[in-house]
Formats: sequence, C-alpha cells, structure tokens
Amino acid sequence: DSPEGRKMLEFRKSLPAYKEKDAILKAISQSQVVIISGETGCGKTTQIPHFILESEIESVRGASCSIICTQPRRISAMSVSERVASERGEKLGECVGYKVRLEGIKGRDTHLLFCTTGILLRRLLVDRNLKGITHVIVDEIHERGMNEDFLLIVLKDLLPRRPELRLILMSATLDAELFSSYFGGAPILRIPGFTYPVRTQFLENILEMTGYRLTLYNQIDDYGQDRVWRISKQAPRKRKSQIASAVEEALRSADFKEYSPQTRESLSCWNPDCIGFNLIECLLCDICENERPGSVLVFMTGWDDISSLKDKLLSHPILGDPGRVSLLTCHGSMASSEQRLIFDEPKDGVRKIVLATNIAETSITINDVVFVLDCGKAKETSYDALNNTPCLLPSWISKVSAQQRRGRAGRVQPGECYHLYPRCVYEAFAEYQLPEILRTPLQSLCLQIKSLQLGSISEFLSRALQSPELLAVQNAIEYLKIIGALDKNENLTVLGQYLTMLPMEPKLGKMLILGAIFNCLDPILTVVAGLSVRDPFLTPMDKKELAEAAKSQFSNDYSDHLALVRAYEGWKDAERDFAGYDYCWKNFLSMQSMKAIDSLRREFFSLLKDAGLVDSNAITCNAWSHEEHLIRAVICYGLYPGISSVVHNEKSFSLKTMEDGQVLLYSNSVNARESKIPYPWLVFNEKIKVNAVFLRDSTAVSDSVLLLFGGSISKGDIDGHLKMLGGYLEFFM
Ligand code: ADP
Ligand code: MG
Repeated sequence: DSPEGRKMLEFRKSLPAYKEKDAILKAISQSQVVIISGETGCGKTTQIPHFILESEIESVRGASCSIICTQPRRISAMSVSERVASERGEKLGECVGYKVRLEGIKGRDTHLLFCTTGILLRRLLVDRNLKGITHVIVDEIHERGMNEDFLLIVLKDLLPRRPELRLILMSATLDAELFSSYFGGAPILRIPGFTYPVRTQFLENILEMTGYRLTLYNQIDDYGQDRVWRISKQAPRKRKSQIASAVEEALRSADFKEYSPQTRESLSCWNPDCIGFNLIECLLCDICENERPGSVLVFMTGWDDISSLKDKLLSHPILGDPGRVSLLTCHGSMASSEQRLIFDEPKDGVRKIVLATNIAETSITINDVVFVLDCGKAKETSYDALNNTPCLLPSWISKVSAQQRRGRAGRVQPGECYHLYPRCVYEAFAEYQLPEILRTPLQSLCLQIKSLQLGSISEFLSRALQSPELLAVQNAIEYLKIIGALDKNENLTVLGQYLTMLPMEPKLGKMLILGAIFNCLDPILTVVAGLSVRDPFLTPMDKKELAEAAKSQFSNDYSDHLALVRAYEGWKDAERDFAGYDYCWKNFLSMQSMKAIDSLRREFFSLLKDAGLVDSNAITCNAWSHEEHLIRAVICYGLYPGISSVVHNEKSFSLKTMEDGQVLLYSNSVNARESKIPYPWLVFNEKIKVNAVFLRDSTAVSDSVLLLFGGSISKGDIDGHLKMLGGYLEFFM
C-alpha cells in the first residue's frame, strides 16, 4: 500500500484491459476457452494473467491456482514476469515466476509462471494432463509459431479430459474467428486499443522531412554482407514473389503527386531489395542533432545486417561516440543476459539506440523507446517441400508485424515511427504472415509428436489449425528414419528418445550425443554452438579478401567446423589475457558470436547432464588435435544425409548432391579457397536455395567415415549403410 504501489495501481487502472476486467473474468468462468484480442499496449500480456491471479487468490479456493502463460520468446517471458512481479510489489519468484530453457526463477508460492511455449511442451512430456494446472494462457497467437500451433492441437485434445482447465488465447489484432471456430465457437473478447499517439511516417514523408536524396548508387553499398541478399530477387517461393510483385505493382501505380520533385525523384530511385543504411544513419543523426529525447529501436532483418549497420554507425562521429550514444543489439543468437541489456536505462546525456530483429517485435516494452525505425523486412525461413530445401531470405513483413513494430513506440509516452518504405508498399503487404508450420521443416515437430505419444504423425498434423503439406510431413518422417531416430514403423528408437530430450535440431543433438559417448565433447560443443549462432566469421564487403584469408589460417583440414573450433579456442586463450576483443578484430570474428558460443556451450552441457549423457559437472577440455578424425566422424554422424560428392576435374572440383545435382559453396567456406579436396565427400550443415543451391559450413570426410558414421550407428546397421552408400555411388558414377 506504498505510494509506489498506489501509483502502479492507478496506472494499471488506466489501461483499457482494466475496464474489461470483470467481463474477462466472467467469460473465463463461463467458458473453457476464451479468445482475447486487443491492440498493442492495451494490457493483455501484463494484465490478464494478473487479473486471473488476483481473482483466484481472492476466491474461495484461495491460492491453489496454477496459471501458466506462454510467450513465444525467452526475452518476453523474462521481462514480462519481472514487470508483473513489480506491479504486485513483489520480487520475482514469489507469486510470479518465469522459466525458460535452463533458466528460471520460481518459488514454492509461485502461482503464475511465464514460460516459453517450448517449456510447456516439455512439461506435457512428463505430465500429459497438466495435473494441477488451472489456467493456460497462450499469448501472441497471431504470430502462428510452430510451437504455438502444435500446442493448440495438444490442448484441444486435452480439454475434454480436463473440464476444469481454462484456456485463454491472446493476441493483438488477429483472425479471432479462425481460433474461435477451431475451438468450437469459443467466445471472443475484444479490448479497445490504447497507446500514446505514435506519429507515423512512411518513406515519402521521411524524404520530404529530411531532404535526403536517394540515388541509384547510394543504396547499392548498403546491402550488408549477406550474399544471399544480392540474388534474392529470384526468390523461389510462390507466395513471396506474389507479395514482391504486389509491391512492384503498387510502386508502379503510385504517383506521389503531392510531394516535391526531389522526393518524387528519390522515390523513383528507391530500391525495394535493399535496406538503406545511409538513410537510417541520416535519420538517426537527425534525431540526435535535434536533441529530441528518447531511445531508438531499429528493426533490421538479422544478425548480418545488424552487425554491418553497427560497424557503419560506429565509424560515425556522433553515432559512434560512446559518450553520446549507447549502441546495443538484440537478436536471437545472442545470450539472454546480453539481450537483456536493451532494457537498461542509458546514462544521463547518452542516447540508447537498439538494433534488433523481430524478436523485439512483440510482447516487450522497452521503457524509454520513443522512436521506431522499421525496415519492413524480416528473415523468414521458408521451406520448399518439393526439393526439400529450406530457404532463408529477407522478405516483406505483414501488416500485423508492421503494426507491432510501430506499437513498440508510444507505450509509455508519445512516440514516432519511421517506416523506411512508401505507404503504398505497406498497403501491398499481406495481412498476416504465413504460419510457421506451413513454411519450415517439420523434423523436430515430428519427434515431439512421437515423444508425446500422440499417434500417427500425419494423422495428428491433419488436425492442426492449418495442416502442413503432406509432402513436407513425409520428408520429415523420411529424414528421421534415415538418421535413425525413427524405426521403419515410425516408432522412436533409443537415439530418437535421447534426441527428444535435447531441444534443438536433431542433427545437433546427434553430434552432442556421440561426442559425449566418445568423450570428445569439448570440440563438439563448440561445433554445435557455432552452428546455432549466426556465422561468427565476418565478411565485410570491402575487406572480403582479407576476411577470407583470416578464416583460412584456422584451417588446414578442409573443414569450416574445425576452423571454427580453432578460432574459438584462440579467442578463449586471448580472453584469458583480456585480449579477446583485439583477437576478434584481427581475425574478422564477431565478439558477440564468440560470447554466444561460450554461453551456449554451457547450456548444451547442462542439457546433456539432464539427459543423463554426461556425469561430470564441468566440461573436460581435452586436446583434440590428435583425435581429429574422430571429431570429423562425429560431425559426419550429425550432418548425414547432408552430403555431397566431390568430383575433381583438371583444375578444380565440383560438388553434387543426389537431390540437386550440381551445388556451390558459400564463398567464405574454407573449402571454397581450395583447388583440390583430398576426400571424396563433403558433409554440410545447411543448403540454401537462392538461384542455385549453396552449401553452408562443410567438412570433408573419407569413405570409411561416411560408411561408419552416416545415419544411425545405434542400430549397427552397417549393411543398410552399405546399400545407401551404394545408392550414392551408383548415382555419381
Ligand atoms: P499488450 O500485451 O496488450 O500489448 P502489455 O500488457 O504488454 O500490453 O503492456 C501494457 C502497458 O503497460 C504498456 O503499454 C506500457 O505502458 C506498460 N508496461 C508494460 N510493461 C512495462 C514495463 N516493463 N515498464 C513500463 N511499462 C510497462
Ligand atoms: Mg502483449
């Protein structure tokens, strides 16, 4: 009942959700499933779980409730739980707690738990009926993440078995009817919007306001370092080109009559395929020079353009001056402790600028953000079931995403949002994003279905809100059989059971398992962690040659993976002498990735411990150079059947895979610098289709390694492998 407490209550009462409190609680008591939609900032994420908690505590049942609220991302689960605890004037871990992978704060009296969707799914593994849980709140369902769609099928099955369980689905502007009809006509509550006013500017207004001139040339060097970008015009997927052509069409028919001739000329030069780094810099300068107070949140597509933009800004006299600007980044492959820095208040007189991917798009509130810059794109994985190849391309976001981005401003004070594309382009965006389940490979999902004993995979998935293509499902099952996670009757093998305990892609899990068994975990942890973050080897456009040479000094054995292990170990040594930064700088390595690898290594190690695969408490570091072939074999075991044959010709070599025929290497692969590879095979981590198929991160392996370690050695089915290999050999003859 302190003054702060009263002030907080006043604030809560001012939120639109508060006015609907009684209606919401009543609907929840009357109906097993309730759908709540409301504009960003109206108080869904923080208030609705809080209302339920309060009303349960006050009710006759007392505090026997157990409320779980899922968030699509770790960063939101953590930050929202902190906020709700502070609204209650409590510390985290009293009534309110959180749990994300390997981290969490939760006490005996915790009745409201914020967690990632993955955590709830894992709980279902051991507790199919969610015994003792009274309410499940699934937040941000409009994002249509794979885990959320999966969870909804499971919960739909569970509801009849648990009639007293309540399910609340929440989202910003959404297709509420779709969810309502999925749950047999569940009631929909709509909360009217509330945010502080956000002044919205599209590209034409920005150009008019700043007088910035776009030319054909000042956008070209803005690409960042991602090579995929430059050729992304021929994006292979239908829906994407549909939107791209809608955008082109919109641009063609726009006339921008009411704008100045200079602006019109600029717009005619605008290149929709790149992000205007120069324009972003100009806008940031404008904000800083005019001393308009407030932090800035810039939405970019991914790790690579974030780091190139950061480099560019750091060399700017104002924006790169740490006395004036604190430049932070936030993307999915950063350690959560680093992500959390974006919430800290900047020092007096210092302006905070956060460069983030769409992980900062929903749920979170960064208190001091006044300005949002939105590049209009996000990197979306898409999956082409026909040739079974994932694609990772920046593509236009949906209208809903653009609104969410805008909504990050104006949450605690009036804000401004700059969309770096014309309004007519926004109008051409799709309303919603394609659900993830329809555009990504389904291997992990299929393993989860099996481990939850949900019966036939395809039958189960046919009951999804929107079912994935049959071919995509078949591909995933086939893959799991090839790698030995499922037997021929689609049952989990021993390997498969272990894999379900490791929440990561099956191939990474396989490497860790074998690394643990063969006691060569130290380098393997680095390989797996390295594959989970974005490429730690930087390739700035203007220093490409130098960067590639720097990478190749870590390699003498035709392996990007081993090069990474050496680079990481060198960094560790340098860190001990406090010279880690210089080391990264000299070797074109990303310090952030190195740190992320460091923390992921520890995370993966604890996962292995939880799964009972290691029994010590610390990672034992052993010199591995004399075990190099063993490490190679473990890498092969994980990456199989990602394999291509090396075909030598007079001067160089070419690569072929069974499905794609000729494939190419990314230019920063150490193997791309070789003219000869004295091994017959390359195993690779990922292939990406742009206009040709490119292999990312490869390691050369011998026949015998492939023979013994390709697929599943858990079955000891060497015969099968011989046959499989025979298939490959025949194909390449
Ligand atoms: P919604 O989920 O509907 O978008 P939230 O419940 O996340 O809304 O937030 C509602 C409002 O509460 C925000 O607009 C903001 O004013 C305030 N708020 C939320 N989190 C914080 C925070 N961590 N610090 C300060 N204010 C916050
Ligand atoms: Mg929210």
